[in-house]
Amino acid sequence: MTEKKTKRLFGTNGVRGVIGETMTPQLAMKIGMALASERGPVIALGRDTRTSGPAISCAVSAGLLACGADVVDLGVLPTPALQFIVKNHFDAGAVVTASHNPPEYNGVKIIEGDGTEMDDDGVIVLEERIFNEDFCIQNWDAVGSSWNAPELLREYCVAVAGAFPCLHAGNMTVAVDPGSGPACATTPDILSHLGCRVHTINGTMDGTFPGRLPEPSPEGLSGLSQLVLDTGASFGVAHDGDADRAVFVDEQGNFIEENEEFALMQRFVCGNHPGGTVVTPVSTSFLAEKVAAETNSRVVYTEVGSIYVARKMLSLAANGVEVTFGGEGNGGIIFPFHQHCRDGGMTAAAMVALLAAEKKPLSELVASLPHHYMVKEKLHTKNATIILERARKTFSSDNIDETDGIRINRENAWALLRPSGTEPFMRLYVEADNEPAARAFADEIKGAISSVL
Ligand code: MG
Repeated sequence: MTEKKTKRLFGTNGVRGVIGETMTPQLAMKIGMALASERGPVIALGRDTRTSGPAISCAVSAGLLACGADVVDLGVLPTPALQFIVKNHFDAGAVVTASHNPPEYNGVKIIEGDGTEMDDDGVIVLEERIFNEDFCIQNWDAVGSSWNAPELLREYCVAVAGAFPCLHAGNMTVAVDPGSGPACATTPDILSHLGCRVHTINGTMDGTFPGRLPEPSPEGLSGLSQLVLDTGASFGVAHDGDADRAVFVDEQGNFIEENEEFALMQRFVCGNHPGGTVVTPVSTSFLAEKVAAETNSRVVYTEVGSIYVARKMLSLAANGVEVTFGGEGNGGIIFPFHQHCRDGGMTAAAMVALLAAEKKPLSELVASLPHHYMVKEKLHTKNATIILERARKTFSSDNIDETDGIRINRENAWALLRPSGTEPFMRLYVEADNEPAARAFADEIKGAISSVL
């Protein structure tokens, strides 16, 4: 294996931290200075609805301008909207968001000119500039200028609403929970465009997140479920804090597990375009494989992280592979005919198209998926390397995939042991056709590694 430089500041989803502690305006300005020293000349800037958004965003902007970039401030918008706008108009982008993290967090994510998140190599170059304070600060006659372009958000909404041109949503009623985040300005609009009658909860932007936390967990969505029941909606959709993810409740108000959401969308998209390739991380349910078999598609696995999925989709496509679908089993879905990033607004629109095409209740479609049960556990340990070595030896007669951690593949079951990048624990995912089989496989793995935990 070649020696790899590692990231010190950026995680898989940009830089994130608690405001006033690890995320400060000083750091944000340095990120802006580093970015404008590497990319330009025109950089788009956006943010989610967090209370710290204006302060952090202005600091990023100051850094960008000081190092000569022109800044197009798009204001509050979903991350995928900024990515779409950058892809169509600008040289790079920065979005101030902490996605699903609680309100005290904020962060900065860097977007390349093709609308994808900056990869590890690009991020390491920015980090080196930040740690070395190596910035291309400009004189008075070469600093950047800035302007606002709120009208560009409309382009995104129109593009998403136009992605399913044969759509007849009829008078579908839909309940939307944007979680007081930036999708307040987009998802209800997109769904109205499609002909839906839209009801919202947590539909006013508010960085204190009074209704629920930015993570759209089942516990936080009781209000959305109730709204679905009260309005007779065909489904309810909720977003995380920057609306690159979408999760759903069915017409009975029941939360749809995100791997099942992924499989339903995959079945819909790949059913219309059979024979293609689906890209997803090694942590995704085997429903992806089972649905791929139905649609004569194949699954290609990546490391865990949407950036790796997006990059893999692009590199396969560049080599002539027909990549039809991708994303993660956490509500982060990538529609490659639209753009190569997770897009919650697009996922909501796709659900309308799916239901309009299937003409069946969502609960019935979920029930039609193959049986599966997934165990997810956190194992506290500092011995990740030793544990992986032990698992590699113990399960050497199984089919092992080392794309990210160790994935043990068996007939109708698989398990993944994967170290956390930042904390002293490992994740253990085990999935089988039924709960007893999944638990037995999980116990087998824990038994094998218990002496080295
Ligand atoms: Mg997000």
